[in-house]
Amino acid sequence: MSHFLDRLTFFKKTVSEFSDGHGAVSNEDRSWENAYRSRWQHDKVVRSTHGVNCTGSCSWKIFVKNGLITWEIQQTDYPRTRADLPNHEPRGCPRGASYSWYVYSAQRVKYPLIRGRLMEMWREARKSMDPVDAWKSISQNPEKARRYKSIRGQGGFVRAKWDEVTEMIAAANVFTIKEFGPDRIYGFSPIPAMSMVSYAAGSRYMSLIGGGGASRPTCRNRPTGTTRLI
Ligand code: SF4
Repeated sequence: MSHFLDRLTFFKKTVSEFSDGHGAVSNEDRSWENAYRSRWQHDKVVRSTHGVNCTGSCSWKIFVKNGLITWEIQQTDYPRTRADLPNHEPRGCPRGASYSWYVYSAQRVKYPLIRGRLMEMWREARKSMDPVDAWKSISQNPEKARRYKSIRGQGGFVRAKWDEVTEMIAAANVFTIKEFGPDRIYGFSPIPAMSMVSYAAGSRYMSLIGGGGASRPTCRNRPTGTTRLI
């Protein structure tokens, strides 16, 4: 019988009883339960972590099915720091545990977004100028600077190309260095504690150009840090 008809006969479906009527055996359709079983099926388990501006270093088991994350759970195989210290496990925060939800979220930002007014002015300026002059023509023009800065906080972002945004960032850095000196550039890089790749890329860049930087521990399950200058 169909699931719909089963629902209509919900109160009539008892087939037999047991335990003096405290239990009942029915022959209802339970195929809907397969959807729940499928939800937790997986092809393989891989080790990974989360890149969400924290340490990015908690170890997780990621259960994968058809190339998609189905769910994840904390790893429990950290090496012991010292025999007389308690182990780290389990390690991981609620944000990490729900991370697979926002990997596939419709709201996830997948492309660079830039304020529309700035994008328009940048594309116009790039038609006739090199990147550094284009940035100067916008940032040092009070009216143009006011146009895009005055609407901060009001949305209005448009999709940009990676090449465009990296060029704009580089041009802004070069212009600032030429005009005001490298120590006028101040950058932020994630916690250095264990996420060395994400930390090192940013701090190395700041070091190479002569800028200043900060690293702020943001780990959710070990909120012990203070702001640290490097
Ligand atoms: S702190 Fe949370 S989000 Fe960051 S790696 Fe650990 S579990 Fe993942």
